[in-house]
Formats: sequence, structure tokens, C-alpha cells
Amino acid sequence: MARYLGSVCKLCRREGEKLILKGARCQTRCPIDKKAKKPGQHGPSAGRSKTSEYAIRLREKQKAKRIAGLNESQFYHYFEMASSMKGLSGSNLIQLLARRLDNVLYLLGLASSRKSARQFVVHGHIKINGKKVDVPGYRVDVGDKITVAEKILSNIGDIAPNVPTWLSYDNNTKTGTMLALPLKEESSYANINEQYIVELYSK
Ligand code: SF4
Repeated sequence: MARYLGSVCKLCRREGEKLILKGARCQTRCPIDKKAKKPGQHGPSAGRSKTSEYAIRLREKQKAKRIAGLNESQFYHYFEMASSMKGLSGSNLIQLLARRLDNVLYLLGLASSRKSARQFVVHGHIKINGKKVDVPGYRVDVGDKITVAEKILSNIGDIAPNVPTWLSYDNNTKTGTMLALPLKEESSYANINEQYIVELYSK
């Protein structure tokens, strides 16, 4: 399945906002902070100032998809799962995306970005409740204990100072724990309007 190999900053520029696709590195050298133009030789097209309702919803979906690092069919699969669950489809979708193991590792500060978190996982450096897990999309559950291989821990440095309230990290045992279901505002998807995504797919 095709994977995007171009500049990730270009994806942020396309959306006109910081999607924090490079994790910690986004705090220092971000072209969005310099008011970068949208990709394309001439920047935003003249005469296309009015954005359609459909385009607004499409862009919202694209933003969430890019933050998660998923392709279209993978993202749609999450939407289908969210729709089949009890409760609001949009909230379910955000929860499912936030509970992905790569996102949890990133929020715990155990990886500098979701991309490097995915690499840790596929290379077999992560254990959940003592068992090796090599699927970046593994859905972390409340109570799950997450540990990282010793050789990776030595390269990680300090754990992120702002671990979300629904997660915890014990520096003594070097163990992350999911304490509760994710809060949207602390999930990587705080700026996503999930209702737009539901409306887009429900047409
Ligand atoms: Fe690039 Fe990060 Fe800025 Fe996005 S937020 S444009 S990925 S530096």
C-alpha cells in the first residue's frame, strides 16, 4: 500500500496549520511559524477564496488522517469501527485514534514523534503487560502497562514533562500506564472537529 514519502511539513502547509508531525522538532524549526505558503508554485490560488462545505469537511478528515499517519483505507476502517460502537461516532473515532500504541508512546514521551514510535514498535522494542507488541495500531486499554526495551530507554532521555492526565509514567520502574480513556484535549487531536469527519463520511 502506498506510503507518503515526501516532506511532512508540506502536509502541514497544505492544511495551513501545525499538525506536529515531527514531534519535538516541531517546537524549533517550523515553516508554519514563518507563515509558509501553501504548497504549489504560486501559493493559494487566486479567485478561490470561498471554501465549500465539502472542502471544509474533507480538510478536517485529512488533518486527522495525517496526524495518525494512516492512509485513506486505514482511516476509513477506524471510522467504520467508531460508527459500530455505542455512543457518538466522532468521539469514538478520536478515542480509537488516541489509543493507538504509537500515539500513546509519543504522548508518554517515549518517542520523539509518532513516526519514531511506530519504528520502535515494528522493531519489537515495546511490551504491553510484559508481552511484545509489534503493531503500531495496537489499541491500548485502561490499565495496560507499557515498557520499552532497555537499549532504547538509554537513548530516550527525559520523559515528556506534560504527560496527559489519562496516562502516567513511573520513572523508577520505567513503565507507562493508561489510567483512563483519552481526553480529546490531551489526545493529539484537540484541534480536530470530529463532527465534520462524521458528516463527510455520512453523505
Ligand atoms: Fe513541519 Fe512540524 Fe511545523 Fe508541521 S508542525 S510544518 S511537521 S515542523
